[in-house]
Amino acid sequence: MREYLTVTNNVKIEESCDVIVVGAGVAGIAAAVSAARLGKSVMLFEKGTAMGGLATLGHVCVYLPICDGLGHKVYGGMAEELLWLTFKYSYNTLPDCWSYGVDTVENPKGRYATTFNIPAFILTLEEYVKNEGVKVLYDCVFSEPIMEGGVCKGIIVESKSGRSAYMAKMVVDATGDADVMYRAGADTFDTKSIVSHWTYEIDKATLEKGLASGKALDAIRMRWFGLRPDMDNSKATIPTFYGTSLNEVNGYISLAYSLALDYLKEHQTPDYAMLTWPVLPQYRMTRRITGMEQFIPNEGYKETSVGCISHSMENPAAIHEFPYGAILDAKLPNIAAAGRLVAAVDYGWEIVRVIPCCVFTGQVAGTAASLAIDQNCALQEVKIDSLQSVLAETGITIHRTPEMLTGVVSEKKFRDPKYIKGDPHSESLKH
Ligand SMILES: Cc1cc2nc3c(=O)[nH]c(=O)nc-3n(C[C@H](O)[C@H](O)[C@H](O)COP(=O)(O)OP(=O)(O)OC[C@H]3O[C@@H](n4cnc5c(N)ncnc54)[C@H](O)[C@@H]3O)c2cc1C
Repeated sequence: MREYLTVTNNVKIEESCDVIVVGAGVAGIAAAVSAARLGKSVMLFEKGTAMGGLATLGHVCVYLPICDGLGHKVYGGMAEELLWLTFKYSYNTLPDCWSYGVDTVENPKGRYATTFNIPAFILTLEEYVKNEGVKVLYDCVFSEPIMEGGVCKGIIVESKSGRSAYMAKMVVDATGDADVMYRAGADTFDTKSIVSHWTYEIDKATLEKGLASGKALDAIRMRWFGLRPDMDNSKATIPTFYGTSLNEVNGYISLAYSLALDYLKEHQTPDYAMLTWPVLPQYRMTRRITGMEQFIPNEGYKETSVGCISHSMENPAAIHEFPYGAILDAKLPNIAAAGRLVAAVDYGWEIVRVIPCCVFTGQVAGTAASLAIDQNCALQEVKIDSLQSVLAETGITIHRTPEMLTGVVSEKKFRDPKYIKGDPHSESLKH
């Protein structure tokens, strides 16, 4: 017989802890581990059956650079730590010049970045998170927050055991889609994505290439399925989908399946094999919070900065300060955002959604949640200097230094109107 702590809304309360993190993508992992390292009891809920979110289940095995392209490390802290974890038990493509602990490199030959092996990273994360004392619950779908007087007392999840409640002092929303904060009443903003499915394949030609080069990786090729405005069919309307409703998500998945199936039918030979299939739809951006503050690229010094961030598509990449209020909603005293759902203006969303930045905001959210418990206050009242100092101790640079100011960010790539065209699949969406 199961024992329960108490009963709420006809749902049994299974367990209580200090910090609940919903979503075990890279952001949720960073949030959970950082809170656990600060002495908090932490539970991490994941609807899938493996860790890593888009970085693993979505096949995005490219850890974008944590340097600026001019030889300066931008991200320290857990963004750097997780980069090294990606290849703890497997290969990497990290250039030699970026040996661990190095903050600057003169004339760098390559960026502080790597690709990684997905199963190896999943297994490493499993070991890492559990060794840090975090309790992980897979196959558990967050369903709704338990709100009392504007405060989130816990969450209700659906699992093989039915509906259960888990209580906590602080909650981190790392669902990628702001599911927790949206349902708790936060102000949010939705956008649409093109279909984009990465998979991996092998055939006779790539196998021969691998054998000839002596590199096993050359035998595997990435295959992209999707529809982009710059493809041959660009005259047609390119379908785009919101990631925040059942119909939209299913429209996306269904299109990805049909594109892949068409390809498979055409390429069916005894020498061809599709090796993998992503089990998370590859939405770049779905829903983010509006935030108490917003991340705005190139804004310069911010008193509330909790760390420097950059996006690596540009070389060199500009470095920006990320404000604490971009993980908070004014109405929610104990729920913090982590990962690709944090508040960012315009193409700033493109900067905050990449893996290193998601890890970074996860670390900020977990640390802030822990400090709010210690300081017995709302997340909005956490003393900013205490948060900055705990983060800085882990290697995060809070404010830009003069040598970091170099570099330019181009808005062009993020502003192509072709990428934000509407389409009939999304007409029915109500919010
Ligand atoms: C096509 C594509 C290409 C990209 N390329 C790159 C790249 O080359 N390099 C790079 O750095 N970044 C890239 N990105 C971005 C990056 O991969 C993601 O934005 C980042 O990994 C998101 O991390 P996250 O933890 O915020 O969210 P996610 O990875 O989305 O994790 C959210 C987790 O929450 C879980 N979850 C969601 N809802 C619930 C619920 N209700 N209950 C329980 N669990 C739930 C999900 O299963 C998932 O595990 C790319 C993204 C896409 C889509």
